[in-house]
Amino acid sequence: MPTRQLNWVVVVVSILIVIFTSVSCQKKEQEAVKGKKIKVITTLFPLYDFAKNIGQDKAEVVLLLPPGVEPHSFEPKPEDIVRINKADLFVFTGKYMEPWAEDVLKGLDHKNLIVVDSSHGISLMEEKGKHEHQHGHQDEHKEVHGHKEDHTHQHKEGHHHQMDPHFWLDFGHAQKMIDHILEGFVQKDPSHKEFYLQNAEQYKSRLNELDLKFKEVLSRCKKKVFVHAGHFAFGYLAKRYGLEYVSAYGFSPDAEPSPQKMVELTKTLKKHGLQHIYHEELITPRVAETLAKETKVSLLKLHGAHNLTKDELDKGITFISLMEENLKSLEVGLQCQ
Ligand SMILES: [Zn+2]
Repeated sequence: MPTRQLNWVVVVVSILIVIFTSVSCQKKEQEAVKGKKIKVITTLFPLYDFAKNIGQDKAEVVLLLPPGVEPHSFEPKPEDIVRINKADLFVFTGKYMEPWAEDVLKGLDHKNLIVVDSSHGISLMEEKGKHEHQHGHQDEHKEVHGHKEDHTHQHKEGHHHQMDPHFWLDFGHAQKMIDHILEGFVQKDPSHKEFYLQNAEQYKSRLNELDLKFKEVLSRCKKKVFVHAGHFAFGYLAKRYGLEYVSAYGFSPDAEPSPQKMVELTKTLKKHGLQHIYHEELITPRVAETLAKETKVSLLKLHGAHNLTKDELDKGITFISLMEENLKSLEVGLQCQ
């Protein structure tokens, strides 16, 4: 064979090899996506429930929080970080719920990880009445004791601007969170876009129905205020349905309620003739029990849905079923007709 002709053959064969390899690689990648489930790590129960409903049999969704663990004081262990590093999608609530997320994500060496910040575009609330309340404290103290230490206390806390991270309890915000998770799924696996979209739409319409039910039931109650002996988790819910709400703690249940807070809760119960006090999930309702005994009211549960116990997970409890239970509890406590 002449050299020229031989050169041509080499070039053509090389081109064919390149084309063939690239086609077969693409095919392999597609097959991998087709056969493999998308690995999703979520930080909080609502996100877990939303992602499971969107991904269904095409996703393997993991809740990072171990069952029954209080989420505000949770920090991921090294093995959790390894799991996040191996995932396709990481869904977190936002920086006020998971202050550790930013640093953990910076430390990962996983370029293809899709990160979903579910708080994106949602305007967060500041702790309601915190400022006025502290002024109230200050005045009260001054009148009685005139202590200097109250000054430092107010000063320190006055500069602390914490935003309320419990926005999943506003079902309008919850629908936006679903949209963000959906975007993550579609970005990872665009070939099943329609499937994810349909599932997300279905879930959102159920949340819409739930919202209407809350509006309807809560519009016919004798009372418009409720007392919660837990942390301040229901600010968004109260705001959405025009309710007032007093809680024993701030945004996380890690401090003892002050004696003034206990007095405020007792006063609110008496002033409004309430017959029930709410306690939260996952934590022994010690404060609620004390108040209930003192004021002769009954206890009811309001579930913030942050996390579930092992027992609740085994029972297959969903975000929507938890919220339906909450509505029943509110219906009783607010004396709805
Ligand atoms: Zn909380």
